[in-house]
Amino acid sequence: MKANLPNTDLPRVVVIGGGYGGITVAQALRKAPVQVVMIDKNNYHTFQPLLYQVASGGLEPDSIAFPLRKMFAKQKNFTFRWAEVDRVHPDKKCIETSIGTINYDYLVIATGSKTNFFGNKEIETNALGMKSIPESLDLRSLILQNFEEAHDHQSTEVQDRLMGFVVVGGGPTGVETAGALAELKAHVLPSDYPDLDLDLMDIHLIEAGGRILKGMSENSSQDALRSLEKLGVSVHLNTLVTSFDGSVVETKSGEKIDASTVIWAAGVQGAAIDGLEEAIEQRPNRLKVDKYNRVEGYEDVFAVGDIALMQTEEYERGHPMVAPVAMQMGEHLGKNLAQMFKGAPLKPFRYFDKGSMATIGRNKAVLDLGKLHLRGIVAWLGWMFVHIFYLIGFRNKVVVFVNWVWSYFTYDKGTRLIIRPYKRKDKNSKEKVAAG
Ligand SMILES: Cc1cc2nc3c(=O)[nH]c(=O)nc-3n(C[C@H](O)[C@H](O)[C@H](O)COP(=O)(O)OP(=O)(O)OC[C@H]3O[C@@H](n4cnc5c(N)ncnc54)[C@H](O)[C@@H]3O)c2cc1C
Repeated sequence: MKANLPNTDLPRVVVIGGGYGGITVAQALRKAPVQVVMIDKNNYHTFQPLLYQVASGGLEPDSIAFPLRKMFAKQKNFTFRWAEVDRVHPDKKCIETSIGTINYDYLVIATGSKTNFFGNKEIETNALGMKSIPESLDLRSLILQNFEEAHDHQSTEVQDRLMGFVVVGGGPTGVETAGALAELKAHVLPSDYPDLDLDLMDIHLIEAGGRILKGMSENSSQDALRSLEKLGVSVHLNTLVTSFDGSVVETKSGEKIDASTVIWAAGVQGAAIDGLEEAIEQRPNRLKVDKYNRVEGYEDVFAVGDIALMQTEEYERGHPMVAPVAMQMGEHLGKNLAQMFKGAPLKPFRYFDKGSMATIGRNKAVLDLGKLHLRGIVAWLGWMFVHIFYLIGFRNKVVVFVNWVWSYFTYDKGTRLIIRPYKRKDKNSKEKVAAG
């Protein structure tokens, strides 16, 4: 079955994925003589850096998402289809999707990444990832459900487990999530749950390497560690999580931590689509591309963003899987394709690193700009400015800004709603928790 798309004599550029990579490609092609068809399994773009704030009740999900149709409403050569892509057939120049087959002249793969559980099925079943809005809503529900459920038990052992949170992975996502949980404990939960002994709430951040925020400077790592410890987070370095059965986390050294919630922020891998196996670098599951973002071995297939592995002298293992890389690659490829239709040669991609940052909580953040290292309130204000700047949609920017100002002065987080209760995948785990 063929998907229903507007007929055209123009070359068709199919873009899979409406993340930063995909939208910047499509935007850069707005004046090119092509038909741009974007396919995404969601009808919206997600601003992933703020997913943890949805999970911790700080923001509504709508304020970090933006409808893709609305984003491109004024772009005449653009068509969107809400569908999941299952396979690429490079020999037939078409893709198989949930709404039928779509032919392409040029294909851009911008499918981003997915959580990497490193093959540990037990952890995958019992822990929660945070790569999408549904996942962050699951986490928000589970956090609140745990506290509601803790009221049903007299045993401090069971309460302790229900109020035990383990965040695995000391990158920006793990650090920000652990910090947000600590702020919930300090400012929000005591008034919501006055009957519970919140001293039982433990927050652990577990990192396999020797320092947290290892992509940032040593100073940032140290500052972030100090800030987290001040907030009451137990940080475990050089610690490898080996199992989580829904109620106990075990580490390689044999340590056991009682916790009913594990947030897995320990790794991502490319969200590759079947059909291009020869171009996949197995370990990170990313598509190998040349300096023009062309997928190795395929003339008309390109990849940008997290899924693209471009190995250069400077980035031997590929560029970091962060939003600025996706945006710069997408814009560069879109412009390159537009030039190519005019007969001009392609220009190689070069990443301009604008620095990196992470926030730990109120007035606490770290920011590296080349050799410059900032921390505290200055870095925190910088972090907020950058996130509002890159958030898509004026309404979203205003809503997020107002929410942050409100939270700053009231210490409150407004969206503590269990709209869709989370059902643990391991059906026995509730009984396990109850059994203590
Ligand atoms: C929790 C979290 C926090 C982060 N924090 C930061 C940060 O602070 N700073 C930073 O720079 N970066 C951060 N990142 C990384 C950043 O979000 C990514 O690098 C960036 O989103 C990559 O953009 P992309 O376009 O490659 O992919 P994505 O933004 O992941 O977009 C991929 C799109 O493809 C769609 N898709 C995937 N597979 C299919 C398919 N088979 N069919 C149809 N559609 C499909 C998805 O629905 C999605 O819309 C964070 C990521 C996460 C998860």
